[in-house]
Amino acid sequence: MRPFDTVVVVDWSAGKRAGPTPQKDAIWLGITREGGSLEPRYCRSRRDAEQALELLISQETVAGRRVLCTFDFPFGYPTGFTRHVTGSDDPFVLWDWFEAQITDAEDGSNNRYDVAENLNQMFDGIGPFWGKSHEDSWPDLPYRKAGISFDLFAEKRSCEGLSKAASSCFQMAFPPTVGGQVMMGLPTLNRLRRMTGACVWPFETWHDADVVFAEIWPGVIEKAVKSRLAQDGAEQIRDRVQVQLLADALARLPVSRLAEHMTDVPPIAREEGWIFGAGISDELNALAVAVSSVRNDCFALPQGVHWTPVDEALTMLRERLLPVTTTETVPLAQATGRIAAVDVTAMRANPPLPNTAVDGYGFAGGCGDGTHRWPLMKERAAAGDVPITVPHGMAIRVLTGAAVPEGVDTVILQEDVTVEEGHITFHGSLKQGSNVRRAGEDVQAGDVVLASGRIVTPADLALLAATGVSHVSVRKPLRVGVLSTGDELVEAGEPTTSGQIYDANRPMLLAMLARLNHQAVDLGRAPDDRDGLRAKLDAAAGQVDAIITSGGASAGDEDHVSALLEEAGAMGIWRIAMKPGRPLALGLWREVPVFGLPGNPVAAMVCALVFARPALAQLAGAEWAVPQGFDVPAAFEKRKKAGRREYLRARIREGRVEVFASEGSGRISGLSWAEGLVELSEPAQDIRAGDLVRFIPFGSFGL
Ligand code: AMP
Ligand code: MG
Repeated sequence: MRPFDTVVVVDWSAGKRAGPTPQKDAIWLGITREGGSLEPRYCRSRRDAEQALELLISQETVAGRRVLCTFDFPFGYPTGFTRHVTGSDDPFVLWDWFEAQITDAEDGSNNRYDVAENLNQMFDGIGPFWGKSHEDSWPDLPYRKAGISFDLFAEKRSCEGLSKAASSCFQMAFPPTVGGQVMMGLPTLNRLRRMTGACVWPFETWHDADVVFAEIWPGVIEKAVKSRLAQDGAEQIRDRVQVQLLADALARLPVSRLAEHMTDVPPIAREEGWIFGAGISDELNALAVAVSSVRNDCFALPQGVHWTPVDEALTMLRERLLPVTTTETVPLAQATGRIAAVDVTAMRANPPLPNTAVDGYGFAGGCGDGTHRWPLMKERAAAGDVPITVPHGMAIRVLTGAAVPEGVDTVILQEDVTVEEGHITFHGSLKQGSNVRRAGEDVQAGDVVLASGRIVTPADLALLAATGVSHVSVRKPLRVGVLSTGDELVEAGEPTTSGQIYDANRPMLLAMLARLNHQAVDLGRAPDDRDGLRAKLDAAAGQVDAIITSGGASAGDEDHVSALLEEAGAMGIWRIAMKPGRPLALGLWREVPVFGLPGNPVAAMVCALVFARPALAQLAGAEWAVPQGFDVPAAFEKRKKAGRREYLRARIREGRVEVFASEGSGRISGLSWAEGLVELSEPAQDIRAGDLVRFIPFGSFGL
C-alpha cells in the first residue's frame, strides 16, 4: 500500500462558534506532513473547519501527497438504525438524510435537538435519542436515558465495545455528547467527501484512494497526552496537544501495520463504521510517547567497541535524534535564522509575467541581417505598468523590469538603435526573445522555495517575498542549558583563592548557542558533588530541551556528570577516536538529552562544534548540516597517530593554513587566535608543508 504523506486529525465540536483566542472544546486540526508536524489549526466554527479542510485536502492532492483524514465522531449507527430511518442499509443514504435535515448557522446555532426529536417520533416507545440542553423543551426527546429499551438495535456499535470509548450515538447531551457531534459532523463529512472525492473507511474500497476518511477516538493516546501536558505546563491546550500527538503517532505507524489494521475489520463495520486504532491503543500510545520525548536508547553505543570513529558517532546521533520543538508562524521580517518547519511553496511564479531585462525597444519577432526600421508607438512600458497591446509591425519604448506588452517578445538595447521622429532604426540581426525574461524562468508557482529544516537566510527572504510568501511556519527555538562543573571554578571578576580558576567554558558555550540561534539558558555552576549536581540537573530538566555541561565527564572520582548519567541509565560514555576530546558523556536526564563535554576549554569547544552543534540542530528541527571546509596547502609540519581524527586550531594567511604553536588543551589563547579548525583525517600520519589539508572556518560551524 502507498503510505500516507499527510495525516490529519480532526477534533470536532457540536458547539457554538468559539472566540478568536484558541481554546479547548473548539475544533482543532492536527496535521503531520511527510513526518513533520505542522502548527495545529484552530477553527472557530464548523464552517471554518469545513473550508480549512477542503483547502488543505485539495492543496495536498495537488502536490501529489496522499491524505489520511481522521475525525473523532462515529461515521455510523448501530446495525438496524439506518434501515429504520431511510429504508436502506447504506450508511451514505443516512449521511444524505442528515445533510438534508440539519441546519447550522454561522454562529453555530443549529437544530440538532429538533432532528433528534423527529427521529424519536419514527420509533415506538421512548427514545432511542435522549439528553437535551433544556429539560422542558422537545417533549419527544427524553432528558434521561431511563426507560429506553434499545430492542430494535443496540445502544452502542460493535467497535465501541472494543475501545474504551463508552459513548453512544444516541446520547445528545452531557459529556461525552457524541450524539450531537455525529449529527453536526456527518453533513460536513458528506460535503467534504463529495468535494474532495475522498474514500470513507471502512465503507468503501480505500486501498488506492488519494484521500481516505476514517473515524478515530483520540482517547487511545491518553497516556501520551497526559505526559506531554505534564511536561508543557498549564498554558497548553489539551485538544491542541492531543490532535498533534495523534497525527504524529498515526504518521509514524509503519505502513504495513496501518494496512493490516485497516483491513482487519468485521463485516458489521460496513454499516456501523469502525474506530481506527481501536485495537492498537498501546502501539499508538508508544508512538505518541516516542514523538514527545527523545528515544531512550539514543545515546547507547554498540557493545564491545572501544574507540568509535567520529563519523560513526555522528551517524548515530543523526539517526537517533528527532526534533523536539513545536512550531509557530512568523512574518518574513522575523524569519531569518529560524528553522523552516515545513516545505514552503511559491504562491506565484518569478517573474510573474515576461519582462524586459534592459532599457530599449520591444517588438515582435527576431530580425535577420541588414537595416531595420520600426515605426514607434508614442506609449511606453515601464516597470509596474499594466501591459498594453502593441499592434503588429510596431515597436514600443520599454524600460527595465516592465512587463512586456502584448504582441512583444523581443527587445533591442537602446544603445543599439537610432531614434528618429516616429520610428527607430538599427542594423544587424537580433534573435527572437532577446533581452526578455520568460515568465517563471526563475521559479514556477508551486515550486518549493524553502525546504523544511532549512535555516532561513536573508537571501531566502528575497525568494520568499518575490514568490508572494509573507509568513512562514518555523520551529520555536530549542532551549539549551549550559552548566559548568568543578569545585575549582569561580566567576570572572569574583575573588579567588589559590587553586581556583575562572569559569571560561560557560560564557563561550552560551555565546556559541546564541550564535546558533538556540535559546541559551545559563544554568550556572555546580560543585563536584553528586547531590548538588543532581539538584541542578533536576531543576534544569523542567525548563530546557537539552543541557550542555562541561567538566566531570570522564570516569574519574570527581567525574560526577558521567556518574550521574550512568546512574540514570540510558547513557553512553563515548570514547571517540578523536583529539582533542577525552570521553564525552552523553545521556538523558529526565528525558532531556545531556551533552557532557570535557572540561578543558579547547576540548570543550571542539567537541561542542563537532558533536553538540549538529545534534542540537537536529533536536531543533534543522536539517543535518555538515560543516563545509576546503583544502588549503599547509604552512606547518606534523606527525600524528593513524586511526584517530585530529582537529587543530588554525587560520589562513597568504593562501596557506597555519596552526597554533601549541596543541595544549588548556591553551585558551589559541582558541581566540584561531579562525577555524584544520581537520586531519584518520589515516593521515605525516603532514608536510605544502600538503593539502582540510580547513573548516568557524563560519562553517555557524559561528
Ligand atoms: P575535567 O574534565 O572536569 O576533569 O576538567 C579538565 C580540566 O579543565 C581541568 O583542568 C579543569 O580545571 C578545567 N576546566 C573544567 N571546567 C572548566 C571551565 N568551565 N573553565 C575553564 N577550565 C575548566
Ligand atoms: Mg572537573
